[in-house]
Amino acid sequence: MTLATFQTFQATVIKKENVTHDVIVLSCSVPTDFSFKAGQFITLMITKDGETKPRSYSILNAPSETGTLSLCIKIVPDGWASDIFNMTKKDDTFLVKGPFGHFVFDESGNDHWFICGGTGVVPFYSMLQEYLIKRDDQFTLVFSVKTKRDLFFHNEFEALASTYENFTYIPTLTREEWDGATGRVQEHLPEDLSGKTFYVCGLKELVLETKELLISKGVSKDMIKVERYS
Ligand SMILES: Cc1cc2nc3c(=O)[nH]c(=O)nc-3n(C[C@H](O)[C@H](O)[C@H](O)COP(=O)(O)OP(=O)(O)OC[C@H]3O[C@@H](n4cnc5c(N)ncnc54)[C@H](O)[C@@H]3O)c2cc1C
Repeated sequence: MTLATFQTFQATVIKKENVTHDVIVLSCSVPTDFSFKAGQFITLMITKDGETKPRSYSILNAPSETGTLSLCIKIVPDGWASDIFNMTKKDDTFLVKGPFGHFVFDESGNDHWFICGGTGVVPFYSMLQEYLIKRDDQFTLVFSVKTKRDLFFHNEFEALASTYENFTYIPTLTREEWDGATGRVQEHLPEDLSGKTFYVCGLKELVLETKELLISKGVSKDMIKVERYS
């Protein structure tokens, strides 16, 4: 698969929305020739106190939405860049480089398991918007957050699951009981692991533990794609 080469451009914030108490969605306008594959990320060059540092974010929107770059960002307590996102407002601009990454949809598969924690769900949001409409494959999303108030895009995923019979949505809470699934993502893997493509995204512990577990159960490494945020 050929991936687009990266570009450098300005993104202008057109909307900032809180989707939970500590997760925001930034919708930006970008040049219409910016193109990417669902699952890829961009890097923002963030300047604070005279210092510029890169911070990477998966792209939330589908590639077909040209001229738009939406990001979903967790505000990390005491995070260097999180400080800036707390203050970000409409019409602010960011210097962006991208797209980057090989965490993209495997078109040769037909049973896709998307496994994630927190904002690790972002690349899957883009992939589902792009591919559910185009393919009859099976799609399963296992999405963990700590408590119900940390859950975001829940209504959107439920709506997709009721529209598309080939999409199963499994939200799981790791630190609260509710009327849905509970426990870590590793507890919600399929019984039969054969013939499936696994995509795992999120913080280091979730990604490494899930990958190790899948390998220990006999899944070959080339059927497991990972994206680590830390
Ligand atoms: C390829 C890639 C894609 C990424 N995509 C996203 C994304 O779509 N959304 C997003 O919110 N972050 C994403 N990240 C993480 C992001 O780049 C920053 O690390 C994060 O925003 C924290 O930056 P900071 O400067 O505020 O915190 P720092 O001062 O750098 O502190 C880092 C601390 O934040 C923790 N942390 C980093 N990311 C997260 C997170 N998402 N959730 C909880 N804790 C976190 C780290 O474990 C570490 O303890 C991605 C990282 C990579 C490498």
